[in-house]
Amino acid sequence: MGTGASAGFGQAIAHRLVADGYRVIAAARRLSRLETLAQELGDALYPLELDVTDFKAVRALPQSLPEDWQAVDVLVNNAGLALGLDRAWQADGDDWETMIATNISGLVEMTRALLPGMVARNHGHVVMLGSTAGRYPYPGANVYGSTKAFVEHFTQNLRSDLLGKAVRVTNVAPGLCGGSEFSLVRLRDAALADAVYDSTQPLQPEDIAEAVSWVLAQPPHVNVNLIEIMPLCQASAGLAVDRTMG
Ligand code: NAP
Repeated sequence: MGTGASAGFGQAIAHRLVADGYRVIAAARRLSRLETLAQELGDALYPLELDVTDFKAVRALPQSLPEDWQAVDVLVNNAGLALGLDRAWQADGDDWETMIATNISGLVEMTRALLPGMVARNHGHVVMLGSTAGRYPYPGANVYGSTKAFVEHFTQNLRSDLLGKAVRVTNVAPGLCGGSEFSLVRLRDAALADAVYDSTQPLQPEDIAEAVSWVLAQPPHVNVNLIEIMPLCQASAGLAVDRTMG
């Protein structure tokens, strides 16, 4: 099952995993987009209207799925968003709460819902979409970056809990990536969103799908804990120093 499959990475991951031979439950809020995906990909894709912040609906999983879709072996926790790029003292509190509800609470509730089945079958893999924003702070990332730092630590803590079980957990942490709705959702302005990628060659959703496919294809004794991916045009820029206060 993949969350956030109506756009960007999630959509590319759904395409890739169906091509790899998986049956994919594609979840998101915009059902019409998932139905279009189902028309493209056929019976291997089950479109599921799901808001990951609707914890009642999430906790009803997997029993609320059709019987032959209930044994979920792979969960790709991809649904997530950044809202705003304002400094912490100017940022919108509702935006912060939405990011926490989606990127943290939604992700942990999805994991809690599907992990028991994986453990009972002693077979499974949870793939998280973290971010380089969870590893390298930048101005305006405040709560978004912190939610992705949570994702990285949650991944490692799950690994500790799951030691001795054949259930794998991986954090995929991309940097600058175009070809998705991420910047439009964040900046709420098409021109500003396009400007994020000006004069760059960013990653594309297919690059992330390739990483997810590779992680899942590793031999059963291999757990890839973390993959950090940046486009060639991006690097961490070191520590900032203010020279106006000296
Ligand atoms: P995107 O194109 O905006 O896609 C986000 C997906 O999440 C959409 O399918 C959206 O579908 C879904 N979603 C959002 N809120 C949801 C909710 N409450 N319940 C269910 N689904 C929800 O963004 P993307 O670039 O593919 O990003 C995917 C993930 O990668 C996110 O976790 C993001 O933080 C992370 N990431 C992105 C980048 C980047 O540069 N693009 C870099 C690093 C990490 P609906 O609106 O239909 O629900």
